[in-house]
Amino acid sequence: MVSRVVIIGAGFGGLSAAKALARGPFDVTLIDRYNYHLFQPLLYQVATAALSPSDIASPIRAEFHRRPNVDVMLGNVSGIDSGRNEVIAEGERIPFDYLIVATGAQQSYFGHDDWAPYAPGLKGIDDAVSLRRRILLAFERAEIEPDPDERRRLLNFAVVGGGATGVELVGAIAELARHALASEFHNIDPRSARIVLVEAGPRILSQFDDELSQSAQRALERLGAEVRVGTEVTGCDDLGISMGRERIESRTVIWAAGVEASPAGTWLGADTDRAGRIKVGPDLSLPGKPHIFAIGDTAACVDAEGRRLPGVAPVAKQQGAYVASLISARAQGQSVPPFRYKDYGMLATIGRGYAVADLEGVKLSGFPAWLVWCFAHIYFLIGYRNRLIVMLNWAWSFVTFQRGARLITGIVGAQMTDLKEMPRAPSAQDPT
Ligand SMILES: Cc1cc2nc3c(=O)[nH]c(=O)nc-3n(C[C@H](O)[C@H](O)[C@H](O)COP(=O)(O)OP(=O)(O)OC[C@H]3O[C@@H](n4cnc5c(N)ncnc54)[C@H](O)[C@@H]3O)c2cc1C
Repeated sequence: MVSRVVIIGAGFGGLSAAKALARGPFDVTLIDRYNYHLFQPLLYQVATAALSPSDIASPIRAEFHRRPNVDVMLGNVSGIDSGRNEVIAEGERIPFDYLIVATGAQQSYFGHDDWAPYAPGLKGIDDAVSLRRRILLAFERAEIEPDPDERRRLLNFAVVGGGATGVELVGAIAELARHALASEFHNIDPRSARIVLVEAGPRILSQFDDELSQSAQRALERLGAEVRVGTEVTGCDDLGISMGRERIESRTVIWAAGVEASPAGTWLGADTDRAGRIKVGPDLSLPGKPHIFAIGDTAACVDAEGRRLPGVAPVAKQQGAYVASLISARAQGQSVPPFRYKDYGMLATIGRGYAVADLEGVKLSGFPAWLVWCFAHIYFLIGYRNRLIVMLNWAWSFVTFQRGARLITGIVGAQMTDLKEMPRAPSAQDPT
């Protein structure tokens, strides 16, 4: 009998597993709550109007239309009945012989979930489009705002978290303000926008060595951004953020400070780490459940030296391919050695033309690193259309400093009703 493999999540891990299993004698069901695979590393470019959502997302069905043994199901998984080997989604029970859980991660506010409405994060397309609207609306509203305090608040942008996402966002917002929007307003000077990156640790990009981290900080400062390291955010509200006694008044606060695993650990009643990641064995299966695997951001996996593997796309992809090979090997009565992660290095970009890279010990910064960053991202994007469009967009932006996706969606009629999304502070000019 053909084994039924159910994969939950068509992100980097799930998609890589499904592609490998599609070539074998398996009935595969790939379930995702969206109908597209998302290239998260470029989400910040959608949030800052450099790319459109469809440039970094590709339909999951299109990947498997020539693979009759792979069923794609659009559905939100709400549980797993591991006693009966069934996944529960949209009121259906989907039986499996093997299960691969690849449901990724979600934003974490470290116990301060009440900050979420004031400091939205960036995990999906909806977040990116909503952030794009918030950022662009802040400039529009500043243009017509009579109260100087409120105008200043609108032109202050605070990003919390100095990892790659926070650094990339700050660089892109700084470029948007200093170049693309610079000469288009009559009452404000977008170049006067204050863009602050707040990081609790002693330096930004802590996964890189000190030299590259300092180089990234200097590059951000050259773009006119402020970098505040060793500064912990202690409060978030609709008027800005608090850092102990200090305040940054801002209408646009973005959270890039932390993630936690999807709730898959709870569905399985599995042993998890503090961030909710499922603890897996050397073959990525759950202890006592050799037919259930967790991979990518939702799994806590340590390497041979006992170090926890990072939550990055290459880990998820390699784990997906590994579990597929293990299932194939088992079908033939064979075994495979434990999972080993091959780390090719790290990259982070800071605006147009500057990046830092640590590639298997070869350290680069500046334009050469940026070229590597561009080629790596184009190469790993799914679909020839997306690769071509992203490449053309980048070339256009590089030459013109423009951003082609500056759409504020959701405005109704002549009134900027969306502006009401951002609660206004009472001002001296308000009649009340
Ligand atoms: C803004 C941002 C920038 C990043 N930049 C980089 C980078 O530059 N380089 C890098 O290597 N990594 C980067 N990462 C991290 C990288 O994207 C993740 O490590 C990677 O996506 C993990 O892959 P995954 O398969 O575990 O999860 P994901 O790729 O997140 O996929 C999870 C999938 O599961 C689906 N899902 C979740 N819950 C359910 C449910 N209940 N029912 C059905 N489907 C569900 C989701 O819709 C999603 O498609 C970035 C992440 C973010 C958010």
